[in-house]
Amino acid sequence: MEKKIAVIRGDGIGPEIVGEAMKVLTAIAGKYSHKFIFEDVDMGGCAIDKWGDPLPEHMLKKCLESDSVLLGAVGGKKWDSVPGDKRPEKGLLRLRAGMEVYSNNRPAKIWDVLSEASPLKRETVKKGIDFIIVRELIGGIYFGEHKTVDENGEKKAVDVLSYTESEIRRIGKIGFETARKRRKKLCSVEKSNVLDSSRLWKSVMHSLAEEYPDVELSDMLVDNCAMQIVKDPSQFDVIVTENMFGDILSDEASMITGSIGMIPSSSLGATSRGLYEPIHGSAPDIAGTDAANPIGTILSAAMMLRYSFDMEREADDIECAVGRVLEAGYRTRDIMPTSGGMNNTSDASDNSENSANSSLHLVGCRKMGELIVSEILGAR
Ligand code: NAD
Repeated sequence: MEKKIAVIRGDGIGPEIVGEAMKVLTAIAGKYSHKFIFEDVDMGGCAIDKWGDPLPEHMLKKCLESDSVLLGAVGGKKWDSVPGDKRPEKGLLRLRAGMEVYSNNRPAKIWDVLSEASPLKRETVKKGIDFIIVRELIGGIYFGEHKTVDENGEKKAVDVLSYTESEIRRIGKIGFETARKRRKKLCSVEKSNVLDSSRLWKSVMHSLAEEYPDVELSDMLVDNCAMQIVKDPSQFDVIVTENMFGDILSDEASMITGSIGMIPSSSLGATSRGLYEPIHGSAPDIAGTDAANPIGTILSAAMMLRYSFDMEREADDIECAVGRVLEAGYRTRDIMPTSGGMNNTSDASDNSENSANSSLHLVGCRKMGELIVSEILGAR
C-alpha cells in the first residue's frame, strides 16, 4: 500500500520525537512492503520564523493532500510574545479546522512494566487499564454563545450548550467504529438526569446502536464515570462523550497512566484522514538534549496505521515492539523511577550504571527509537 504522510516536526523536542517515529514507520514499510511518502510541513514557531505565519496556506494544502498527518509539538518561549493570531497554537487550531476533525481520541493504557508510575492502588492497576476516550471536539458548550450581561443590578454570565442530532450521530459513529476495532464495548457518557442535550445524546446513541449489533452499548452519567475511572478503569474499552465532559475525563485518564511522554492521540473527521500526535507539548526544557521520550509519537504513528490505513498487523507490531523494549528494562528519563521524573533536565546520555536500579537502562530519545526499530525488524 502507498500512503502520503504529512510530517510536522514543529518546535522544541518535536523534530527529535518525530524523527524516531519516522524511522519506525520506515521499518514497518520495509517489513510489510508498503511505501510511505513523507511530506515535510512547517507549522508552529519554526513556520513563524520562516514564513511569518504559524501555518501558511501552502503548508495546510500539503496536509489536506496527504492521507494523514503526523505531528510532534509546537510552541515555545521564543514565540510567547507574538500577537495572538500569529501564535504557534493558532497553526494547530487552523490545522484542526482545515482538516475538519471533530473527534479527539485518547487512549489511556498502562503498560504492565510501568504500573508503578500510576497513582492508583496497585490492585486496581493490576486488573489492567486499556481504554480510549472519544471526545467530541468542535461542538457543545465551548462553541456555544458566551456572554455576560447586567441583570437586576448584578452581572450574569451565560454559556450555551447545544448539540444537533447530526453532530451527535457523527461522533457516535466514531465511537462505535473505534469499539469495533477493539473489545467491542462502548460506554456513552452524559448527564441525562439533568440536561436536555444529554437526553438527545443518549437517544441518538441508542438509535445508532442498531447499526452496530456487534458492539455492546452502555450508558453512564459523567459524575459516576469520573469516579469509575479511578475506582475500576478496567471496566472500560471505549468511552464516547461530548466536548466538555471529554476534556475533563481525558485529562483524568492520562493522569492515571503515569507518564505524559507515553500517550498518543488521534483526531478524526468524516474521512479516514486523521491528525496523529502525542498529548504532550514541545517540552522546551529538554529540547536538544536527547532526553525526550519518543514513545507517545511512535504510538501515535501506530494509531495512524490502525485507524486511518486499516493496517492492524502493522499497528500491533509497533505496540508489541514498544512493550518488549520496556520489558527489557529500557527507559527514557521521564519513565525511569530513579530519575526524579519529568523535570529532571540533566544529560540523558548518563548511563545505566548511575541508576540505583541496575535492571533498568537509561536511554535517550534516539536510542529508544533504535531499540523499537530493532524489535520490529527482529534484530535485537
Ligand atoms: P509540555 O507537555 O511541553 O511539558 C511538560 C513537562 O513534561 C516538561 O517538564 C517536559 O520536559 C515534560 N515532557 C513533555 N513531553 C515529554 C516527553 N516526550 N518526554 C519527556 N518529558 C516530556 O508542556 P508545557 O511545558 O506546558 O508546554 C511547553 C510548550 O508546548 C508551550 O509552548 C505550549 O504552548 C506547547 N504545547 C504544545 C502542544 C501541542 O503542540 N499540541 C500541547 C501542549 C503544549
